Amino acid sequence: MKRRSFIFDIFSVGFATAISSRLNANNLNSSPVIRSISTWNNTKEANLMAGRLLDKGKSSIDAVVEGVAVSENDPKNTTVGFGGAPDSSGKVTLDACVMNHLGDCGSVVAVENIVNVARLAKDVMEKTPHVMLAGKGAEEFALIEGYKKTDLLTEFSKKNWQKWSETKEYSPIINIDNHDTIGMLCIDQNNNISGACSSSGQAYKMPGRVGDSPIIGSGLFIDNKVGGAVATGLGEEIIKTVGSFLVVELMRQGFTPQEACESAVKRIVSNNSQKNRFQVAYIAMNKKGEVGSYSIEPGFTYMDYLNGKNKEIISKSEF
Ligand code: ASP
Repeated sequence: MKRRSFIFDIFSVGFATAISSRLNANNLNSSPVIRSISTWNNTKEANLMAGRLLDKGKSSIDAVVEGVAVSENDPKNTTVGFGGAPDSSGKVTLDACVMNHLGDCGSVVAVENIVNVARLAKDVMEKTPHVMLAGKGAEEFALIEGYKKTDLLTEFSKKNWQKWSETKEYSPIINIDNHDTIGMLCIDQNNNISGACSSSGQAYKMPGRVGDSPIIGSGLFIDNKVGGAVATGLGEEIIKTVGSFLVVELMRQGFTPQEACESAVKRIVSNNSQKNRFQVAYIAMNKKGEVGSYSIEPGFTYMDYLNGKNKEIISKSEF
């Protein structure tokens, strides 16, 4: 699509949506929407946990952290936490961030030996004067806070890495078979939105490589006046467009969550028309508890907990 017609599309859709949002403003449902959504269908249990906590009256920030912890604790989930895929040297390093309804945020980067890094990011947010802690400093902070030191490399992940090491083929392309993140957004009974993102990053990444997942604005962004968004897929491309921030800003202009995710994905596609295909996906939620999602490649799914039901949704995609 030519740049001018793409821009025209964004503004025409945005303008129409802004008008319809204003027309609908008086019809806002007064009963609170309680909802949790999370990236990929391997986060079913995590999303269920978050949804149930919200139903019990927990805040959105507690729900996202405890929900994400279910995936982080699961050795069968080889994309986050315990059992996450290691870097090319065989070391598991984790990234995570959280953001709450007040606009406060916390992040940890390249952390070893700690399983629940989203909870650690929340501790950085609440217990330190900082937003981000990296590497050894983050690990030492965790140990002071009473986190258990845990070897994150499981036998299963080790075997896969050893197999990969036979060829050491380095292809930093994230597709539907190779993705590594749980991103979660929750809206609670007080109409407050929070989010969390946790990842072992790209499998067999270069040591020291950090993706979008712990970067506020790229992997996750919340503005409680507007809504929230979280990303998964090739982190380098998400960072280049400050993807989650972009989705929230589009919703601020009047786009629905669905339209905002589509525009943000199309921005990446239009920047990459000549290059290799890769996966990027967003999920988003607005203040009415409406949600949307979009990905570049087919195959992206997300979990949606609403009214006591936890459903898998197959996302629309560009191709
Ligand atoms: N976004 C993550 C990263 O680039 C990976 C993923 O979501 O699959 O580290």
